[in-house]
Amino acid sequence: MSDEQETTARCPKCGEQLIYVTSVPHPRSPAMQRTTFVCYPCNRTWSYALTPAMATAYAAANADKGEPPPAPASGYAS
Ligand SMILES: [Zn+2]
Repeated sequence: MSDEQETTARCPKCGEQLIYVTSVPHPRSPAMQRTTFVCYPCNRTWSYALTPAMATAYAAANADKGEPPPAPASGYAS
């Protein structure tokens, strides 16, 4: 066991590591994020309701793997 937060999701079907895709506010639980992962071996997606903190942790873990984070939407004047 590790006391690091677990940010590796595994496919319930084949056990491969899932790739984080995106998260959006959960349509039925506004306090939660509906987080989508993809399994390439199964060629399908899995969605989970996660807390915003967990969704952020998965996004950050994904970002560590060399994928640049998407550019923030433009149009916000600060
Ligand atoms: Zn799978």
